Amino acid sequence: MSLSLQEIIDVDDLKEQMRFFYEAAGISVGVMDVDQNWLVSIGWQSICTNFHRVNPESRKNCLLSQFRIQEYLDSKKEYITYPCPNGLIEVSIPILLNDTPLGFFFLGQFLHSSPDQDYFRRQAILYGFDIDSYLRVLEKVPVVSQKRIDYLMKFFVRFFDLLTRIGAENQQRHQAELETRRAKEQLETRVEERTCELNRALLEVGDLAAQLNESLQQVEQLAITDTLTETYNRRKFDETIIHEHHRAKHEKEPFSLIMLDIDHFKKVNDQYGHSVGDRVLKQLCQLVRGLIRQGDLLIRWGGEEFLILLPTTLIAEAGPLAERIRLEVEQELFADAGSMTISLGVGQLREGDSTDTLLRRVDNALYQAKQRGRNRVVLCPD
Ligand code: GH3
Ligand code: MG
Ligand code: MG
Repeated sequence: MSLSLQEIIDVDDLKEQMRFFYEAAGISVGVMDVDQNWLVSIGWQSICTNFHRVNPESRKNCLLSQFRIQEYLDSKKEYITYPCPNGLIEVSIPILLNDTPLGFFFLGQFLHSSPDQDYFRRQAILYGFDIDSYLRVLEKVPVVSQKRIDYLMKFFVRFFDLLTRIGAENQQRHQAELETRRAKEQLETRVEERTCELNRALLEVGDLAAQLNESLQQVEQLAITDTLTETYNRRKFDETIIHEHHRAKHEKEPFSLIMLDIDHFKKVNDQYGHSVGDRVLKQLCQLVRGLIRQGDLLIRWGGEEFLILLPTTLIAEAGPLAERIRLEVEQELFADAGSMTISLGVGQLREGDSTDTLLRRVDNALYQAKQRGRNRVVLCPD
């Protein structure tokens, strides 16, 4: 990366330091960048500004001198001393950074010994200067020994070497900081983007999980539901009865079962067709569901036979409920099939009962109801 002199030094700072130098030494100083712009020019002698630079011919010499500097610099000497074509002396050093010139430093407009009056008088005549005024400003031109200039230039070579090295290091550090900050910002932006993407993905995963959960619940529901009547199936009965047995045992609260079967249902199918039979089954279930409690379970036991599981219910309560169901069914008008009756067997869990023994007793009660002429409720004997 190539840096310009202005980028690595504080020009105002340098101007101030050069002013201090001028005040102390009385020698004109200048700093020029590689494009020959003066960054610092302090203490220019009146002989230059008011005479040499004013006349077009002598001014050419000033500019010529400026161009010769470049030539000298190409020779890579540590510093160079040369007389300007207008008779004064200048010294110059290149301001280098890693052997590349960034600009030039000048001490100038001085003489090594008292001025040659004749030479300057001739020069005044040549360029048409007022001789007296010209010689007066000539007196102000400082006389500086070669030795003093040597020391000064040794100092300035090191001074600028230090200045450019520190300046370049500062600049590089600044650049590195900028790059680090930029990289950090880029990283932060990317982290932010990734976080947003991740959050979006998490939301999607959350949605998917919710959908999956819903689907699972539907599947679970389907697995325990009879598709035609939408009552529970045997699987649900098997699951629930274990739990009810447990509760009955621990809480000493028995449950009851009602088993019901449609009377002469075969005739419905035969007379009106299977789909009418299906509708009767659905309507019957809807009716029964409306008559039982929230926690009671209506289960399709098979064909046109249903079980009602009544948790924490004694037979003394289950019997009247069965009777009510029987009555409601008897009074119901079934679409396309007219009236219908059902027979019911009712039993309560007894001590020492298994599910099978209870079911057998209830089934037997139902059988008794059929035997005794149907459309009736039979309670299991104690
Ligand atoms: P009972 O009074 O002795 O119970 O006489 P029933 O005719 O009801 O008894 P049976 O067991 O002889 O006949 C039951 C009938 O129920 C036979 C069968 O076709 C019918 N059925 C069983 N499941 C369904 C079903 O899902 N839909 C229809 N439409 N009919 C069914
Ligand atoms: Mg039947
Ligand atoms: Mg039957």
